[in-house]
Amino acid sequence: MTSTTTPQPSGHGSPAGRAGALADPAADRSAEPGAGAAGTSAPLRGTPVVPGVAVGPVVRPAPRPALPEVPADGGAGVVPEDARDAELERARASAAAVAERLRVRAEATEGDAAAVLQATAQLAADRGFLGEVRKRTRAGAAADVAVTGAAEKFARMFAAMGGLMADRVTDLHDVRDRVVADLTGQPQPGVPRPDVASVLVAEDLAPADTAGLDPLRVRALVTRGGGPTGHTAIIARQLGIPCVVAVEGAQALAEGDMVLVDGTTGTVQVDPDLEHAAGRVEADRAARAAAAAWRGPGRLGDGTPFPLLANVADGPAARAAAAGPAEGVGLFRTELCFLGTAVEPDVEAQAAVYAEVLAPFAERARAAAGSGDDGLVDVKLVLRTLDAGSDKPIAYATPEHEENPSLGVRGLRVVRRDPGLLERQLDAVALAAERTGLRPWVMAPMVATEAEAKGFAAAVRARGLVPGVMVEVPSVALLAARFLHHVDFLSIGTNDLTQYAMAADRLSSDLADLNDPWQPAVLALVAMTALAGQRAGKPVGVCGEAAADPLLACVLVGLGVTSLSAAAAALPAVGARLQTATPERCRAAASAALAAPDPAAARAAALAELG
Ligand code: PEP
Ligand code: MG
Repeated sequence: MTSTTTPQPSGHGSPAGRAGALADPAADRSAEPGAGAAGTSAPLRGTPVVPGVAVGPVVRPAPRPALPEVPADGGAGVVPEDARDAELERARASAAAVAERLRVRAEATEGDAAAVLQATAQLAADRGFLGEVRKRTRAGAAADVAVTGAAEKFARMFAAMGGLMADRVTDLHDVRDRVVADLTGQPQPGVPRPDVASVLVAEDLAPADTAGLDPLRVRALVTRGGGPTGHTAIIARQLGIPCVVAVEGAQALAEGDMVLVDGTTGTVQVDPDLEHAAGRVEADRAARAAAAAWRGPGRLGDGTPFPLLANVADGPAARAAAAGPAEGVGLFRTELCFLGTAVEPDVEAQAAVYAEVLAPFAERARAAAGSGDDGLVDVKLVLRTLDAGSDKPIAYATPEHEENPSLGVRGLRVVRRDPGLLERQLDAVALAAERTGLRPWVMAPMVATEAEAKGFAAAVRARGLVPGVMVEVPSVALLAARFLHHVDFLSIGTNDLTQYAMAADRLSSDLADLNDPWQPAVLALVAMTALAGQRAGKPVGVCGEAAADPLLACVLVGLGVTSLSAAAAALPAVGARLQTATPERCRAAASAALAAPDPAAARAAALAELG
């Protein structure tokens, strides 16, 4: 099968792993501050994904085309033999037209959006997919039946593989629908270009729908399905479009309904008071302007410095982050460098990859202040060892078939099967440190026991590096003080900590309400960990998506964490919000959120304290 380019994600559920997939096999809270909007009915509630407020009429994507039924025999023998070549040509031509349209849109776009469109275009042109269509049309299936059957076959395969591959099923269905629409003369599915600024409401959006959206025409996104780490969320974040997913009742919103969407509280108010709505939109605009004007470094409202760091996945992301206000890197996800790599790169090759990420920060620090006595620059750069497995399968590191991969051999656990993997990675990190003069902090993902932390710390220290572990498994939060005997720092991965504390698959749109870092139980685990750090006098950062939520960032500060790390693009909004919040207000917001019964109440309580 063909191989395609893998776009680098900024987090899970991102376009990573999409490309090349065929190739490698309510209570009314309208009175609460910030919630609702003085509408006549209770607001609909969902999971807030991208903050921001917008008002406008609802638009809906064009419906999906009617699909043909695929009989058990694949529809063989229906087309006479002498017409089968022509039928195959029709299918090929439609697939090619779909791929071309998507490519043209990709060229008019950039960043993740372009990568998503390219990846979907590649799927429409994939040799494996077209080979299956050929087989079916040669057997006498009609073109639309062959396309539908072929897509279903691969969709079943992907779904069985789970993780990011299962995410690709949406892309595949999108390709199927576009090709069938082309073949049968139905309108292409997808997002309209509204004449007035509108709110796009959908069941869920295919990556190709969200990629390339015009933020001037589509002011907010609301979906009934989807999750906080899915592709809709990632593209919305990149475009800065307020977004709420998993909104119960969104299916009942009709084209033209007026709605006020609040991407911070996760509310959708139908038929809002328009004057009140305009005020909310204006206040949001002012907050965005403050974010745009924010230049760093991170400070609280009383001037206390507070480190804001960047999450990076590779050299280009590190160069971009070093050119901005991020003080360092709080999470370098090394596994994302090797998603498409079949064989483990040797130590030298790995060192080159890591040095590319270290170098921009080393250069920036030298230019600013020079290096210390030992020639090392003093910049916080946290490198995470391979978090292979589950939704980030790495061919050379993870088991192929696991019953339950997110609870399986992932992260540091791969060392059980191959201890050399970690040894070689640490050798490569040490080499990169020596070459760049920047000594990174090194942390392990998916640690669950003290023994793991102890063994890891010894291996890291043996190379002159600074050891830490991630707090993703609740066992570490519960016993954080003990873990801190072994390591020099902790970093809370709220994405997985939430998944494991709430026992809710982070990729499941049905469980998005559980997978919310505002869950009081998750906040309590963060509080325990931060307290242990304060008592031990050791840093405890947050590097999960929670750190990208400006309101939650204030709460995390109030809970006692010592740094926050998020995608570089998210830092200005976080930095601008933090500089309006004194430590006292952050602590008050943290207490209020901890005491709240659920995420919506926690948000409202924090807003009430912070204003
Ligand atoms: C996390 O779990 O919060 C985290 C930062 O790691 P990842 O999202 O890569 O699993
Ligand atoms: Mg994680």
